[in-house]
Amino acid sequence: MTNPIAAPETSTELYDCAIIGGGVAGLTLALQLARAGRRVVLFEKETYPFHRVCGEYISMENYDFLCRIGVPLAEMDLPVMTRFTVSSPTGEALHHKLDIGGLGLTRYELDQLLARLAAEHGATICQGTRVTDVAFTDEQFTISTAGGATYRARLACGAWGKHANLDSKLHRPFLEPSREGRQFVAVKRHLQLDNFPAATVEMHNFRDGYCGLSPVPGGLTNCSYISDVRNLRAHGNSVAEMERQVLMQNPLLRPYLEEAHRTGDSPIVISQITFRERSTVDAHVLMLGDAAGTIAPLAGNGMSMGMNASFLLNGLLLEFLDGRISRAELEQQYTRAWRQLLSFRITAGRLIHQVFGQPWLTTAGVRVLKRLPFMTDFILKLTHGQPY
Ligand SMILES: Cc1cc2nc3c(=O)[nH]c(=O)nc-3n(C[C@H](O)[C@H](O)[C@H](O)COP(=O)(O)OP(=O)(O)OC[C@H]3O[C@@H](n4cnc5c(N)ncnc54)[C@H](O)[C@@H]3O)c2cc1C
Repeated sequence: MTNPIAAPETSTELYDCAIIGGGVAGLTLALQLARAGRRVVLFEKETYPFHRVCGEYISMENYDFLCRIGVPLAEMDLPVMTRFTVSSPTGEALHHKLDIGGLGLTRYELDQLLARLAAEHGATICQGTRVTDVAFTDEQFTISTAGGATYRARLACGAWGKHANLDSKLHRPFLEPSREGRQFVAVKRHLQLDNFPAATVEMHNFRDGYCGLSPVPGGLTNCSYISDVRNLRAHGNSVAEMERQVLMQNPLLRPYLEEAHRTGDSPIVISQITFRERSTVDAHVLMLGDAAGTIAPLAGNGMSMGMNASFLLNGLLLEFLDGRISRAELEQQYTRAWRQLLSFRITAGRLIHQVFGQPWLTTAGVRVLKRLPFMTDFILKLTHGQPY
C-alpha cells in the first residue's frame, strides 16, 4: 500500500480503473479487478485500520462472494447470528428466528483485510489520500488529490459513501435544495456486555430512531444507532444527554447504554445522513455502495448492497476494458442492472424506516407481527438479497 506519509507524486501511468473511496464497496471492486489482472488505483482519505459507524452485521448472502475473492471467513471464528429481537420505544418486544442470518466482523478488521488483499493482488492503494476532483476529457479521467498529485484512468468509480466533497463537485442532483428531507445522525460504540444473548441481533426503537446491537469478535457487542438530528439539537447537541432523555426511555435499551455511560465509553458520531435517491452515473463516474444509494441501516444490509454492486460492476467494467461494450452501453447496462437488483431493497428499507421510530406505529407493528410470524419473515426477506 502507498505510504500515506510520503509526498504524493503525480503518476504517469494510465490505470484501467480509479476507485475513489475505500469502504467495502470500493475495496471489493478493487480486489476483483486486481485479481482479474487489471491496473487499478484506489484512493482512501483515511489510513487503515480505522473505526467507522456501522452495525458490522454481514448478511450471509455475501458469504460465498467474500470467500471467492479471498476473505478466509471459515478460519476467522466469527460470531454467527440466527435470532432477532425488535422492540418498540415502550419496550414491547418480538423475538424471531433470522433465517438468512449474518456474521459479526468489525470494519476496523474487514476494511484493512480487504485493502491488504487488494494490494497483494497488485492494486495501488493510496491511503491517507483525499481526492479533490475527478474530471473526464478525451475518454480519460484525471483524478486530483489534496496533496497536488494527479492520476489518469480509463474508468472512474465513486465509492465515497453517504456524503463527500465530490458530491458537490459533480453537482449531483440529490443535493438540490428542492430534494431536502429529514437529516439523521448516527453513533457507534463497541461495548463489553457480559449478558448480551448469544447469536442474536437486537433492534430497539426510540422516538425518531432505532438502535441495533449485535456481537462482533473479541467478546464485544456493536451498539449503533441512527436518530433524527432533531433529537440531538433538542438536547444541546449532547450525545450523552440525547441518549439519557430519548434512547433510554426504551426499557430494553436502557441497561446497555447505562453500561456504556458507566464505563465512560466514547462513541464515534457521523452526521448529515439523508436517504434521498441518488444516481448511479454522474459525469461518467460510476457510483456504487452508499454513493449510489443509501439504504436505511435498520435493514442491516448496506454493506451487502455495496458488495453486490461491486460484483455487478466488475463484470461490466471487464467487458468495457476488453472492448466488448462501449462507454455508453456500460453506463446504461450498469444503471439498469443496479436498479433491477437493488432499488427495490432501498425503497423497502426506506418504507420500513419511516415506520420505525414512530412510537405508536412501532408498538402496533410489533403487536401485529407477534401474531403473524410469516409477516416478519416476509419483511426480513424484503431487506435481504440472494447469494451471488
Ligand atoms: C448506524 C448504521 C448502522 C449500520 N449497520 C450496518 C450493518 O449492520 N450491516 C450492513 O451491511 N450495513 C450497515 N450499515 C450501512 C453500511 O455501513 C454502509 O452501507 C457501508 O459502509 C457503505 O459502504 P461504502 O463502501 O459505500 O461506503 P463507506 O464504507 O462509507 O466508505 C466510503 C469511503 O470513502 C472515503 N472517502 C470519502 N470521500 C473521499 C475522498 N474525497 N477521497 C478519498 N476517500 C474518500 C471515506 O473515508 C470512506 O472510507 C449501517 C449504517 C449506519 C449509519
